[in-house]
Amino acid sequence: MDFSLTQEQRQIREMVAEFVDEEVVPRAAEIDATDEFPRDLVDQLADLGLLGAPFPEEYGGADLDYHSYAMALEELSRGSGGLGTVVAAHVSLAANMVCEFGDDRQRERFLTPLAEGRDIGAFALSEPGAGSDVPAMETRAERDGDEYVIDGTKLWISNGSVADTVILFARTDPDPDPDADGGSISSFVVRPVEDEGFVVEGTEDKLGDKGCPTAELRFDGMRVPADRRLGEEGRGFVQALKTLNGGRITIAARGVGIAQAALDAAVEYAGEREQFGQPIGEFQAIKHKLADMDTKVSAARLLMHRAADLKIRDENYVKEAAQAKLYASEVSRKVANEGIQIHGGYGYVKDFPVERFYRDAKLNEIYEGTSEILRNTIGDRVLD
Ligand SMILES: Cc1cc2nc3c(=O)[nH]c(=O)nc-3n(C[C@H](O)[C@H](O)[C@H](O)COP(=O)(O)OP(=O)(O)OC[C@H]3O[C@@H](n4cnc5c(N)ncnc54)[C@H](O)[C@@H]3O)c2cc1C
Repeated sequence: MDFSLTQEQRQIREMVAEFVDEEVVPRAAEIDATDEFPRDLVDQLADLGLLGAPFPEEYGGADLDYHSYAMALEELSRGSGGLGTVVAAHVSLAANMVCEFGDDRQRERFLTPLAEGRDIGAFALSEPGAGSDVPAMETRAERDGDEYVIDGTKLWISNGSVADTVILFARTDPDPDPDADGGSISSFVVRPVEDEGFVVEGTEDKLGDKGCPTAELRFDGMRVPADRRLGEEGRGFVQALKTLNGGRITIAARGVGIAQAALDAAVEYAGEREQFGQPIGEFQAIKHKLADMDTKVSAARLLMHRAADLKIRDENYVKEAAQAKLYASEVSRKVANEGIQIHGGYGYVKDFPVERFYRDAKLNEIYEGTSEILRNTIGDRVLD
C-alpha cells in the first residue's frame, strides 16, 4: 500500500492549486454575488487541459489518471464550489458518457470539442417528477424513420443554459415492462444550436453553487438523427448509473475541497482573533474543533482516493464511490458549519468566505444521489 503521490500527480496538484490561488480565489466572492457563468475562467481551465482531464489524448484529453483528476477538482472546489460543479458536470458526466458509450465517430465529433473545452457539456437525467426515482422519467423519444422525436422536460441541469452538447435521457419504449427497471431508457447527444425544439426555460435562483447555471430544459417535438443515440436502445439507465458512480468520486472531491477551504479559513482566523487576551486558537475548545475538522477532511480524502484506486484498477467500486461521496458531503457541511462557529458573528456575514462554503457544501448531500439514496446503495451491499 503506497499513499504517496507520483511526481506527475504532485505537479498537477501544484499547478491547479497555483491557478486556483491566483485566478479563482480572488474572483470567488464576485462569482457568488453575480451568479454569472465565469466563461473566462472556464476557458483558462480548458487551456490547462482540465476540461478533458481523464480522456485519451487522441480525443483532445489530457489522459490523467483518476487520482489526478479528482485532486484537480478538489483544488478547483477549494476556490469555488460553483466552478467545481461546472467541471464535474462537464467532464465526469457529459463528456464521460460520450467517451464510454459513444462509437469512434461520436467520440471524434462530440468528445473532442468537449475535451478541448471548445464545447460545454451537460447531463440531463432528472425531471420534475423523477429525481431519485430515475425510471419514473416521462421524457419520450419516439423513433420515426432515421430520426427520434423527443418530447419532455428536464430539471436541475447543471450547465444546462450554457451547454453546446447535452446528454439527454429519454424513454424509447412506450410500453415498458414494469419489472425491467429502467430498461426502456436510452441516451442521446443533443445540441441546442442544431436541434429545433430545444428550449431553455430558465435557471434556478439557488442557495449556493453560484456561477454554475442550473437550468430547466424543455424538448418540443425535437427531431434528432438516430445516430445521436449512445449505445443500444434501452441501455440508458445502466449507462447513467455507471457514469454517476465515477461522478460520485468527483463530488467527493468537491466536498473535500470545500471542507479544506473552510478548515484553512478557520485556522487562519483562530490564529488572528484574540479574546480574553489570547488568540482563540489557544482555547482548547477551538483547538479540538480544528483537530476534528482536520481529521474529517483527511478521512474524506482517503475515501475519495480509495474509490479512485478501485476505478483505475477496473474493480467494482459502487459501494466505495457511494461511501466517499456520502462521507465527504457530510464532512464538507459539518466542517463549514464549524468554520462559521469559529468565526463567531463574523462567520455569519459575507465579509468572510465561510458562509459561502457552508451554502456550497449543502448541495453535495443532494445531487448525484442524495445521502439517503447512497445509504440505500451502501446498505444493500453491506447486507449482500
Ligand atoms: C443544484 C443542483 C444541480 C443538479 N444538477 C443536475 C444535473 O446536472 N443533471 C441531473 O440530471 N440532475 C441534476 N440535479 C438533480 C439531483 O440529482 C436531484 O435533485 C436528486 O437526485 C434528488 O432528486 P429530487 O430533487 O427529485 O428529490 P426526491 O427524489 O424527490 O427526494 C426528496 C427526498 O426524499 C428522499 N428519498 C427519495 N427516495 C428515497 C428512498 N428510496 N429512500 C430514502 N429516501 C428517499 C431523498 O433522499 C430526499 O431527501 C441537480 C440538483 C441540484 C439541486
